[in-house]
Amino acid sequence: MSSPYIVGNWKMNGLRSTLAEARAIDRAAARYPKVELALAPPATLISRMHDVVNAIGIGGQDCHVEDSGAFTGDISAAMLKDAGAQFAIVGHSERRAAYGESDATVRAKAQSALDAGLTVIVCVGETEAQRDAGDAEKVVTSQVAASIPQGEDVAPRVTLAYEPVWAIGTGRVPSVDDVAAMHRAIRATLESAYGAAGKTVRILYGGSVKPDNAAELLGADEVGGALVGGASLTAESFIGIVEAVSPAQED
Ligand code: PEP
Repeated sequence: MSSPYIVGNWKMNGLRSTLAEARAIDRAAARYPKVELALAPPATLISRMHDVVNAIGIGGQDCHVEDSGAFTGDISAAMLKDAGAQFAIVGHSERRAAYGESDATVRAKAQSALDAGLTVIVCVGETEAQRDAGDAEKVVTSQVAASIPQGEDVAPRVTLAYEPVWAIGTGRVPSVDDVAAMHRAIRATLESAYGAAGKTVRILYGGSVKPDNAAELLGADEVGGALVGGASLTAESFIGIVEAVSPAQED
């Protein structure tokens, strides 16, 4: 198994002064050699963050499907890469909901991230109504099948993030059994798409991960890490999650 991958999504939060938190996370990372850490700050901070951290990955929160052009306000994967990012998050439920991003759009964005030389985190997740209707697994596996980039050899550069929409920013989390069942269903979908390579794609859980629930959620079957929103904004809570998952190695 690969090491747990814990990624903080700062969303539309963070000014230059907030880079102090990234520096503190970066310094702490040395005590957690068994965990892979990354942050996705707002695009305005990628380049500056790149200048002040060494041990953690940096990513964008979205990218356009095109490399360049007349798309006012948008940012391309090539620009993220140029600013110092190594990965892009695509298909976050906030973008699917607020900007009407379809699975096809998410797939095109994922493809453009790969084409620019980035790795990609593809987000999927059901709404509360879909879960209540008993459709969660069907919805999520069909999002996975239609959103992941295609190609024989892309799997090593793809990460999945299962984020139930109703758990994001709410303090509510699914049961460990429900997380494990969904991750197994996602794994089966990845294997149908990528063959044996689908066995190695990391599947992160996201939605109200905090220091006090991280060990349990990340201990569930097929959970390879976490995508963390609110609790990634301070070094104290983000490192609290890391510590819960894999206690520090003191020298
Ligand atoms: C997210 O938006 O990706 C997320 C998981 O947010 P939170 O941790 O705040 O629920």
